[in-house]
Amino acid sequence: MLGAVWYGPRDLRIEEVAEPEPGPGQIVIEVSRNGICGSDLHTYVGSDTGGASMHVPGVVLGHEFAGTVIAVGDAVTDLATGTHVAIAPIEYCGSCWSCRHGYPNTCRSVAIYGGYLEPLHGGLTSRVAVSRRSAFVIPDGLGVVEAALAEPVAVAVHAVRRGPITLGASVLVLGAGPVGLAILAAVKAGGASLVAVSEPSPRRRAAAEAFGASVVIDPLETSVARAARELTGGSGVDIVFDTTAVHDAFNTGIRALRPRGTMVSVAGWQEQGHVDMGYAMAKEADISFTMTYEPEVDFPAAIHLLATGAIDPQLLISDHIGLTEVIDLGLEELLHHNDAHIKILVDPTR
Ligand SMILES: [Zn+2]
Ligand SMILES: [Zn+2]
Repeated sequence: MLGAVWYGPRDLRIEEVAEPEPGPGQIVIEVSRNGICGSDLHTYVGSDTGGASMHVPGVVLGHEFAGTVIAVGDAVTDLATGTHVAIAPIEYCGSCWSCRHGYPNTCRSVAIYGGYLEPLHGGLTSRVAVSRRSAFVIPDGLGVVEAALAEPVAVAVHAVRRGPITLGASVLVLGAGPVGLAILAAVKAGGASLVAVSEPSPRRRAAAEAFGASVVIDPLETSVARAARELTGGSGVDIVFDTTAVHDAFNTGIRALRPRGTMVSVAGWQEQGHVDMGYAMAKEADISFTMTYEPEVDFPAAIHLLATGAIDPQLLISDHIGLTEVIDLGLEELLHHNDAHIKILVDPTR
């Protein structure tokens, strides 16, 4: 079987990889789809954080995947072959301070399938062994193909849980990629009354409208902070979610907040930031960051949002491509035409 194996910056090879065997406590799944993430682009081109410097060469890339259980290892007694599962692709030690307190996403020994920090093969291949713990059963109502979106939606769910959404809250989401759109849908489900979305790409602005944004703003045309104040009687919004990892957008978000508002950063920062500390101070802003998700809490919620239609998976998927097309129609396409896409899913069988 073929896999997309990362050897270094701009050196991803579609080549033969060994068939996986389930070790004790593991299962093997037949991968239905694997989504391409912004962090995969950083790994592919070789940027510093979240990417090349923390990846193990010679490992199959991909961390947004779902599939069908085809084999179970010793000590796995509660999952039958044929079951459809979404994979929460993080491994953690279970005994450090974070793990003991229920924050496995900040585990001292955290690793992510797809080669982040440990040689754990990811989902850009036909079959892969994962821990039983990482697998979450997909209910009827959600296809095994669309379930590959559970991972980015879990990122959004975690971010929303990091921001104090209350009934009637006013929210600004910066960026309408897969995570921004899922945040939009999740805060609406959580009782937000006003959800404004700022996004320069027309394709993604249209998706934000389809997801029911109250207002969609083109930041190249309109002052986002001024718009946020006008929408809230001059005060600014209660919560801003920044999904962009762009300094100017982050600072715009701080300007758009009301006093004592909360900024949640849900972005793969690649460099040191330049934050308008004075604005943040004058407003007594709270700023939180997110790192992936807590699998046991955020994955079931993400799967529920997708299975019930609160988040329509079809609105997030912009293309299905084959494994052999992952460089040209996946990574290079996203590097050069990111504006035209939301989520590209890879079918490892072709
Ligand atoms: Zn990702
Ligand atoms: Zn730990």
